[in-house]
Parts: sequence; structure tokens; C-alpha cells
Amino acid sequence: MELRDLPSVDELVRDVDDPLAVDAARLVLSRAREEIRAGVDPGDLATRLTRELEAARRPSLRRVLNATGVIVHTNLGRAPLAPEALARVQDAARGYSNLELDLEEGERGSRQDHLAALLRRLTGAESALVVNNNAAAVLLALAALAEGREVVVSRGELLEIGDGFRIPEVLARSGALLVEVGTTNRTRAADYERAIGPETALVLRVHQSNFRVVGFTELPRLAEVAAVAHRHELPLVDDLGSGALGDVPGEPSARESLAAGADLVCFSGDKLLGGPQAGIVAGRADLVERLRRHPLQRAVRVDKLSLAALEGTLQLHLEAPARIPVLRMLGENASVVRARAERLAALTGGTVEETVARVGGGALPLAELPSFACALDESLAAPLRVGEPPVIGIVRDGKLLLDCRTLADDELDEVALAVAASRG
Ligand SMILES: *Cc1c(COP(=O)(O)O)cnc(C)c1O
Repeated sequence: MELRDLPSVDELVRDVDDPLAVDAARLVLSRAREEIRAGVDPGDLATRLTRELEAARRPSLRRVLNATGVIVHTNLGRAPLAPEALARVQDAARGYSNLELDLEEGERGSRQDHLAALLRRLTGAESALVVNNNAAAVLLALAALAEGREVVVSRGELLEIGDGFRIPEVLARSGALLVEVGTTNRTRAADYERAIGPETALVLRVHQSNFRVVGFTELPRLAEVAAVAHRHELPLVDDLGSGALGDVPGEPSARESLAAGADLVCFSGDKLLGGPQAGIVAGRADLVERLRRHPLQRAVRVDKLSLAALEGTLQLHLEAPARIPVLRMLGENASVVRARAERLAALTGGTVEETVARVGGGALPLAELPSFACALDESLAAPLRVGEPPVIGIVRDGKLLLDCRTLADDELDEVALAVAASRG
């Protein structure tokens, strides 16, 4: 085909009854012109117009199949929800809800009441507050408890989470003043002791979530830092990052941290908890109440869909934690993952390869989870990514690895169909 053979926009859309057709046709023709100039045949333009119109109507935010082996993958939306949690979302969102209505008394209630008892049971805390995410939880805690005053933090914990969330900057935004203690690799309880003065409002611990300092290192145990803070009648706030509600080896749980002396803990809803995006603050009732009354609380409040999903997820933590996808993927035996990889390899004509999956989400950065992948030709990576549904794997040594730790059994047929479609 040559440039002069291309139809006009009007000609291309003549039989197409679609309000988006003209814009789509312009796009198709401009791409076709470029291809012809580059010596490539643009193919059937009517088919391309149909595809373009389909693409224009496809939602931008879509489900993808995660075959990266990274369980809490921030770019892929972090934690997938359990069906039970999703059912709560559907139910709360379909119609009206008692979000802020006390049904017993017929009076105004608080959206925080729905999860209070569950969070108390799961963490042992006196009280809890749910906000939009953990970054907001930390910001709110600092603003409510330390605005205009000093916050003591170890230099080894002044970290950046990713996407520009840096502890020193969050501290500055909250209106608190940072007082650094210790060094990058070593901080002792006595360092905290020396830094505390009349202007100190609280001691902050930040879990070294996404990195590790190795070698000549020292950090006091939480209980030692708590003892120092309490000797000066100061609260200790522990930003756990991911946090865990149950037993995840190597990751501190909210309950352990509170039991060791933290007065408040802050953690994410969509990391190892396996729920929706949310930030949870749990601990001493008087401190939680100060957060609840702070004007920022209204700006960072959690929405009803997240609350519904969180309630469903927390209920599962109590009753059936293995039904939470993140915990299932984390705890699954390697032989089960291998069997899944074998099935996928049989369906796609790939081979089974041993690999290593990761927790992700800034939790347990060094943990290597034994895993198995279905290996395919590297050239399939791009078509699978732009297919429907998109399948995201990792490319290594000239091969595309589809890690089966982060795929569910009922997703294998879909992956196989996507692979077949990508081979054209
Ligand atoms: C992830 C993380 C945060 C931020 O949590 P979000 O829920 O993503 O806002 C804060 N602190 C630590 C230590 C983290 O690991």
C-alpha cells in the first residue's frame, strides 16, 4: 500500500455508526501513514478501526494476571482481595449502608465503630483508627501528637518507602521537628536517652521495611526503646510498614509490638494484611482519640468500600487466614507451586523452571520464597502484557518466566489462552 491509496477519514468511517469513530479513524490513518513511510504494510484498515474502537472503550484500570512472583506488587495493585472481602464491598456499595448510623440507637454513628472490635481482638490494642493508607496514618500520628515539638528517630530508620515517601519529609510536613540519634548502622538505647529533652513529644520507631543494614550493626530492641520513652513519660510510636496480624516469620506483628511497649502502631491494609489500601493505627485509647479529633483526620479518612473490604479481610484473619490470597501465596508449599507450573507448562508447551518469588511491598526484602515458573520464549513478554487480560511475567536469560506462586489455579486456563493468542 502507498500513501495515496489510504482512504480519507470520511471514507474509513462511512459505514461505522459510532460517536468515537472519527477520532479513532484519524489515529488509525496517522499510524498507517507512519508505517507506509517506514516501508511496513498497515494491513486491513477497517479491522484496525474496529480494534481501535474496542480499545477506546476498554477500561483503563483493568485486572491483570500477576506472574512476576512478587506477592505484594505495588505496581500491580498490591493485595488481591479474598472473595469474602469482595462480597462485603459489593454489599456495602450496591445500596445504602449504615456507614455512620447506629442502628440500635437510631442515632449518628462513627464509621470507625465497624472495625473497632475486630482490630482490638486481632492486635490486643485498646483502640484503633483506620485511615486512607499507612502514609496518612504516620502523618496523622505525628501531626496530632508532635506538631511544633520534637520527634526522636534513629538515623538507621530515616528511610524512603518508594514513590517519594521519606520519613524526614513526612515528619517535616506534620509540623514536627526531627531529632536524629545514633548512626546509619548503630543506634543504642542510650542514644535515645541523651536526645530526649523538654521539647520532645514522642519517640518514633520505623521498621526497616524495604532494606537491611548488614555487618557492624546495632539497634536496641523495641522494649528497650519503650522503656526509655516511658521513663520520660513519652509515647513510643512504631511504624511497622507492612505489619502482620498473624504469624509471618521475620515481620513484626502489631500485637508483638504493642506487647513490647509501643503505645501506637501504624501499618498498611494492603501489604501483608492482604486487604484493601488502608492505614491502621492501633494502641492506647487516649492517643487514638487525639488522632481522631485532629483536623487532618477528616482529610485522610477511609472510604466505605475500603472499610467493607477491610472488615471482610479482618474477619478472615480471625476465622480462616488461609483464605486470604496474600497469606495463601506466602505459605504455599513449593510442591504445590511446582504442580501448578507443570500444569501451565503442559497447557502452553513451556518448560518448568525453578525460581525465587518475593514478598514485595517493602516487606522482608531478603526473603526468598522457593518457587516454580513456566518458561516460554522471551518474545511473548510484550504481546502478553498488551493482551486481554494482560499477563505480566519476568524476563530472565532470554526467557519469559511465568512464576506460579502468584498465579491462582483458576487463572491457569486464562494464561494458557492468552499465550495462545499472543502466538497469533
Ligand atoms: C509501606 C510503608 C509505609 C506506607 O504505607 P502505605 O500504606 O503504602 O501508605 C510507611 N512506612 C513503612 C515503614 C512502610 O513500609
